[in-house]
Amino acid sequence: MDKNKALEVVKSLQEAVEQMRIDDLEESPESALETFQCYCCGQEKEKAGSMVYQEYLLCNDCVLIAETSMALGKISNIEELINSMEDKRLETECNLLIEEQKNQNNEKN
Ligand SMILES: [Zn+2]
Repeated sequence: MDKNKALEVVKSLQEAVEQMRIDDLEESPESALETFQCYCCGQEKEKAGSMVYQEYLLCNDCVLIAETSMALGKISNIEELINSMEDKRLETECNLLIEEQKNQNNEKN
């Protein structure tokens, strides 16, 4: 696939994935307030625009990454993406724990 074609694919996926988020918000406006920990990036993300792949719930940002990587043939299934995001996920999880630890220390003082 040449670059221009790839960019076109990315653009249409971007629109589709953003539309999913908009649809979710229209259907249930409260989903903007609900958050969950994304299985892929490990970050706390809003529920709107999230999607389940196999048994994994992915945030809107990761859905776009997943769809793009699959469309461009970079991955063949969602597990490959999750594995490739593992380093980042670990980092995020550690940072969350470190932050929490800091907060607890602050509360004690
Ligand atoms: Zn994510």
